[in-house]
Amino acid sequence: MNKEKRLEIFSRLADAIPEPVTELNYNSTFELLIAVVLSAQATDKGVNKATAKLFPIANTPQAIFDLGEEGLKEYIKTIGLYNSKGANIIKLCRKLLDDYQGEVPKTREELESLAGVGRKTANVILNTAFGQPVMAVDTHIFRVSNRTGIAKGKNVLEVEAKLDKYVPKQYKLDAHHLLILHGRYTCIARKPRCASCVIEDLCEFKDKSYV
Ligand code: SF4
Repeated sequence: MNKEKRLEIFSRLADAIPEPVTELNYNSTFELLIAVVLSAQATDKGVNKATAKLFPIANTPQAIFDLGEEGLKEYIKTIGLYNSKGANIIKLCRKLLDDYQGEVPKTREELESLAGVGRKTANVILNTAFGQPVMAVDTHIFRVSNRTGIAKGKNVLEVEAKLDKYVPKQYKLDAHHLLILHGRYTCIARKPRCASCVIEDLCEFKDKSYV
């Protein structure tokens, strides 16, 4: 795929998605971090439902730590993998209190040192909370990048590296959410909605679906 085509794709996605932001609800960087940790292999909707009850009760590292693992699990038990997520969140809060004065750190290395925080979660925080033009390649971004031909790769690291290289400069900050939302609502996993896709004529996917 050439440079002009990529530019046109992002320009059209940006027109079609005027608010490229996360669908997770949060009011602070710490709340975002907790929501993102909870969202692994879960829907944003499900996470929002749980955090709508949790955050009014506990939305700081100290408050969640004070709930304890069992107390926290009561709020998140509707979310997949809640046992391990609950344990990780308590450890994460402890580390924030011990090592970072209760603040969410701003570097990838520090973020990845927190329990339950891998490269993808760290990238989401760096992008969404700290405005860094990094790409957190999730299942939607991986699929859309490969199907369209924007950034083909066999694994998430390959796709991330190509997106870093090829996403036009002016779309670097928003590319993450533009691709996620396009993947979530149009270029869906089972049957992509190619008939209503704004980049249909530019997309290089061989198996388009029009039903
Ligand atoms: S044309 Fe179809 S496969 Fe290509 S990006 Fe659009 S929805 Fe996805």
